[in-house]
This record gives sequence, C-alpha cells and structure tokens, in this order.
Amino acid sequence: MPTDRKAIFITGAASGIGLAAAKRFAAEGWLVGLSDIDGPGLKTALAAIGGDNAGFTVLHDVRKEDEWERALDAFMEASGGRLDVLLNNAGIARYGWFTEQGRADFDDQIDINLRGVILGAYLGHERLKHTPGSRLINIASLASLSGSPRLAVYSATKFAVRGLSEALDIEFMRSGVRVSCVEPTVIETPLLDKASAPGGPNFREAITQGMGGGLPVEQAAEVIWRAAHDDALHYPVGEAPEAMLQEILPRIEETRTRWAEMFKAGLVTN
Ligand code: NAD
Repeated sequence: MPTDRKAIFITGAASGIGLAAAKRFAAEGWLVGLSDIDGPGLKTALAAIGGDNAGFTVLHDVRKEDEWERALDAFMEASGGRLDVLLNNAGIARYGWFTEQGRADFDDQIDINLRGVILGAYLGHERLKHTPGSRLINIASLASLSGSPRLAVYSATKFAVRGLSEALDIEFMRSGVRVSCVEPTVIETPLLDKASAPGGPNFREAITQGMGGGLPVEQAAEVIWRAAHDDALHYPVGEAPEAMLQEILPRIEETRTRWAEMFKAGLVTN
C-alpha cells in the first residue's frame, strides 16, 4: 500500500556511522531499514533507535547479490513500495603496511567496500527510480581524497567509491535519482579498534597521535541527513576533507555541467 512515510535503507546499520544515521532519520519519522551481517548488533541497534520506528532489520551481507535482492524487496514491502534513500555505508578497514597484509585483507576490503557498494548502487537504482526525488548516498572517506599509508587498499576502495559516485551522479540524471558521496575524516566508531590486526600497528593510537582522535559520530549522521536533502554531490565531514574537496570540486562540477547540458540538448542518444 503506498505511504507518505519516507524510507531509508542503511547497510552496516548495527554500529558506528550507520547506526547514528539510523537514529537521525528515525527521529525525523522516517521508516529505517537496518541491514548488517551482525545479527545481535541489529537487535541492539533496533532497541536503541526506539520511538515509533517499529523498524525493520535484515541480516544481509553486502557481498552477496541474492541477499541484496531479498533485503531490498523485504524492506520495500514494509515501506509500501518506496525507497527514498539507499545508504551504502557498510565498510571495513584493515590497518597495516601493504606488504605485510594478506590476500584475505585485500579481498575483504575490496569485496565489502567496493563490490558491495557497486551491487547496492546497481540493485538500489532499479528500486530508487520509482520513488520521486530519491537518492543513493555512498560513504567514502578522507582516504578517498588522498592516498593513506597503512590503509593502502582501504584507500584504493574509497577512491573507487568516490569515482563511482561521481560517474553515477551523471548517469542517474537520466532516471532522476540523485547521488551523493560522503567523505568523513576520522570518526569515533568501533572501526577504530577493529581495523588493527593483533601485533600490528595500532590504528587508534596512530589516529590519536596524528589527529587527536575522531569526531563524534553524530556529526557524520548530521551530514548524511543533509546529503539526503541538499543539492551537492560531495559532503565532507570535518575540516581536512572539506579543504581537499575545495581543490578538486571545480573540475568535477565542470564535467557534471557539460553532461547535464548534453542531456538537455538531446545530444546523448545512446
Ligand atoms: P563500524 O565498524 O562501526 O560499522 C560498520 C558496520 O558494517 C558494522 O556493523 C559491520 O558489522 C558492518 N559490516 C561489515 N561487513 C559487512 C558486510 N559484509 N555486509 C554488511 N555489513 C557489514 O564502522 P564505521 O566507522 O561506522 O564505518 C561505516 C562506514 O564509514 C564505512 O564504510 C567506513 O569505511 C566509513 N568511514 C569510517 C570512518 C571512521 O573513522 N570511522 C571514516 C571514514 C569513513
């Protein structure tokens, strides 16, 4: 049954930035779909959100296409067929020297941070295009703007997420789905502890020494809320990504404007 209640589907919603975003949107009365591979975490997250967001949780591994299909279909049944925002948030980091990481570290980061986001964009778009004003929001990183040592593969996946977002922002003009890319600096979440391998360099210590710690997670959620409503493509969280984006935005805008004009003039015919 069609409904007026806006609906957001969030991957990696059991923890950190995804959970904070879930709380932010639920507080505004949105129906929030929480997806994650962490079943107990989802239960706790749902309880933490509270309110009348009776909520929807689904066990969902973003690496698996059939789980994406099932999760999105189930959510849209609950939402009365609407999908206003898909937040591609699930991600992991493995901190350490590139030459000391294993193949599993490479594969896990590529499969979750990049392949999972591509699947979400592709399968999400099929559904988003039926809801007017809908958006795809991808979470990249400060590490998508400047190569980050001891986060080489993570950084590579996040550069790719930014590139994907910029390209899809243009391609999806054809179907009216907006695309936004969020670039957080370090944010205080469990990722800061999970990223370090036993006996390897410690991410939290390095971050605390280098940057004095992370920003509160609510700050990231607030920017995601803006990304769901304002008109920009890029949404930095924190001063460092904001300064870096200023340097490259004119070129990105130029490409975007050129394509928008070509679409408008009917010059793109195939
Ligand atoms: P987090 O570890 O607190 O939360 C990540 C969530 O993703 C967890 O609940 C985890 O269970 C889930 N997840 C992991 N693998 C999954 C899979 N295969 N399928 C579905 N869910 C899976 O981390 P966070 O800091 O909240 O990170 C969220 C996003 O923000 C990530 O994409 C991360 O790269 C990005 N980011 C984080 C920071 C930071 O400093 N915390 C900075 C920039 C970008």
